[in-house]
Amino acid sequence: MGSTGSIGQQTLAVMAEQTDLFVYALTAHSQVDQLISQCEAVAPHVAVVSDPSQYAALAEGLKMRGLKTEARAGREALRSVAEADEVSHVMAAIVGGSGLEPTYAAAAAGKTVLLANKESLVMSGELFLSSIERTGGEVIPVDSEHNAIFQCLGNSRAVGSTVAKLLLTGSGGPFLERPMDSFDSITPAEACLHPNWSMGRKISVDSATMMNKGLELIEACFLFGVPSAKIDIVIHPQSVVHSMVAFEDGSVLAQMGQPDMRTPIASALAWPERMTSGVSPLDFVSGLQLSFRAPDHDRFPLLDLCRQVAAGGQSVKVALNAANEVAVDAFLQERIRFTDIERIVKTTVDAMAIEELPSIEAVLSFDSRCRLEAQRQMTKCF
Ligand code: NAD
Ligand code: MG
Repeated sequence: MGSTGSIGQQTLAVMAEQTDLFVYALTAHSQVDQLISQCEAVAPHVAVVSDPSQYAALAEGLKMRGLKTEARAGREALRSVAEADEVSHVMAAIVGGSGLEPTYAAAAAGKTVLLANKESLVMSGELFLSSIERTGGEVIPVDSEHNAIFQCLGNSRAVGSTVAKLLLTGSGGPFLERPMDSFDSITPAEACLHPNWSMGRKISVDSATMMNKGLELIEACFLFGVPSAKIDIVIHPQSVVHSMVAFEDGSVLAQMGQPDMRTPIASALAWPERMTSGVSPLDFVSGLQLSFRAPDHDRFPLLDLCRQVAAGGQSVKVALNAANEVAVDAFLQERIRFTDIERIVKTTVDAMAIEELPSIEAVLSFDSRCRLEAQRQMTKCF
């Protein structure tokens, strides 16, 4: 799901190296031409565009190329492929809250969910995990940090009593050294220019504000069942150590590799085995330098907010994520400044009353109200 995106394309690249993996369905929002090219390469049974207005273009395009792939469109179609009997594994690589429904549907259908779409877990945490437990499905982290921790725990999400800390590393993004008095003039192009990783635009901006690390903190609390106090964030500009686990005897296990998402994707696809990914090994003897430092909380105030939110209930997490998506989208469209993102997220989280969210429907309804509130807060930026 999300095959035309950064993670989606890299997943297909890893799968192209294998002979025993088959694609049942590919999904995209509206990038029909790219989706059709992917269908030519891997011949899935079904191709879905979630934007219904693109249905005719998809159906006609597939037919014109003589492909047998069935075209479907809309939210229900997305859900239908996530739940299909033919499917064992679902790569959840849609960006943002739009991924929640289909990713949750895969969990509720007992699939092995390869989770890149961190926003869906941030929004639905316990509901999602209890669904996985109930149906006998699995969730395998694709996010490189969580995949690293998973590997350091022996391919497991279970944090035993001998674990002292989870150490979540982050590069610090493109503005680790930029003078803070120039943050107001940061452009979308500058924010999307990550020093180590090539990613979609939304997560690139999240990396620039370090909201990404905050969302990952919440993601890690859910995935590994630990309180946020057990997780430290460490700045590691080279993105070679993808995260670590510290044990009570002083041992620290780290997972290392090139900053290339094909490694965690292959690790998740092959779990509990391994497969080739096309990523070259690390070269330790040609000047590799590894450095680590504490995060600068004045530079990246969203980190503190995320830590507070991590300790709160589900509705605060939904508000945090919704406001961030609205603000990042507005920043990418050059409607607000980079520094407004933090302001909108904080004021929206403060403005929303806490609610119980006992179902995915309740989460989605609360999410919509948070997005409206974030829009309202945005008008105050000017
Ligand atoms: P992207 O923007 O490159 O791709 C997003 C994909 O989702 C596209 O295929 C798009 O068609 C689809 N999509 C967008 N809106 C949709 C909608 N409303 N309904 C259905 N599908 C929709 O994003 P990405 O960088 O590949 O990130 C995908 C997810 O993976 C995000 O949650 C991100 O946080 C996570 N992630 C990405 C990376 C990375 O290196 N790119 C690393 C770790 C985690
Ligand atoms: Mg990550």
